[in-house]
Amino acid sequence: MKSILISVPAYNEEPNIYPLYKSLLKVIDPLKEKYRFEILFINDGSSDNTVDTVKQLINETDIVSLIDLSRNYGKEIAMAAGFDYSDHDAVITIDADLQHPPTLIPEMINLWELGYEDVYAKRKKRHGESTFKKFTSKLFYKVLQHVSDTPVNADAGDFRLLDKKVVSALQLLRESQRYTKGLYNWVGFKKVAIEFDAAERLFGETKWSFKSLFRLAMEGITSYTTAPLKISMYFGFVASLVAFIYMIYVLIKTLAFGSDTSGFPTIIIVMLFLGGCQLISIGILGEYLGRIFTETKNRPLYFKEEVISKTVKKDDASYKN
Ligand code: UDP
Ligand code: MG
Repeated sequence: MKSILISVPAYNEEPNIYPLYKSLLKVIDPLKEKYRFEILFINDGSSDNTVDTVKQLINETDIVSLIDLSRNYGKEIAMAAGFDYSDHDAVITIDADLQHPPTLIPEMINLWELGYEDVYAKRKKRHGESTFKKFTSKLFYKVLQHVSDTPVNADAGDFRLLDKKVVSALQLLRESQRYTKGLYNWVGFKKVAIEFDAAERLFGETKWSFKSLFRLAMEGITSYTTAPLKISMYFGFVASLVAFIYMIYVLIKTLAFGSDTSGFPTIIIVMLFLGGCQLISIGILGEYLGRIFTETKNRPLYFKEEVISKTVKKDDASYKN
């Protein structure tokens, strides 16, 4: 019997735990004969009663497990904890807020059985999101698409079924500043998309502030490609070329017609403009340098407060409870 892990990162999702469990149960119940399911909640340092709710659920059923992380690490790391935990034949990652419809799971499993190793759900429409968020997210994908070598799937979220092969690959990628959507593409494997209508989250509010989305977007670009470094270099070339041509022009003009000392505003403008460009370039450099700094520390991605699991894990001693 094949085993499937449903991995749910949860940060302050207390009211959503039971509804999610119920609707998951509805879709996996008819498949119980063929697959062994395990639902893993990864508590990402919630400040509400998410942990207690999951523990209560664990007492009532035997297919639920819990990883309680030592603090809030962010969704990307929480998902990594789910991948690390898995020794299943497939992993399905799904949000806790029911924005990802569990009804899609049977179709995902069918496609997996057909040989696809990364079945990802693509949003058709975005309900309950501001035009500003839609616009910025579209813009981000456009930019990322343009500057990177590996393709990016716009609107493809983290609702996915991943074959064991993909999960083992992801387990090897230990960067601490993670942009998981980029990692899926980087590791490759046979991909297929299915479409769905994203619903509004059931309870609570999105954890993404504009600031954290901006940070994720920066992470996406800087972890995915070194194009910004090249762009600032190209810009440097163009600026010097223009300056050089202008210099020759001024030289000839001065030799032929003599010099007049006007042009002060032009000098100031050019100085400010180029100074700004230099600062931006240094900033970009610093961004990459900072990433190197963080990654060379080589810290573990996360620490676990507690793991409650009925399936004993093979290798990792810390997973035996
Ligand atoms: N999440 C998490 N850690 C965080 C932020 C979010 O584990 O620091 C989880 C959250 O509980 C949810 C999923 O990631 O299951 C998606 O979060 P959210 O709904 O806030 O994002 P959105 O759907 O608005 O992109
Ligand atoms: Mg959500």
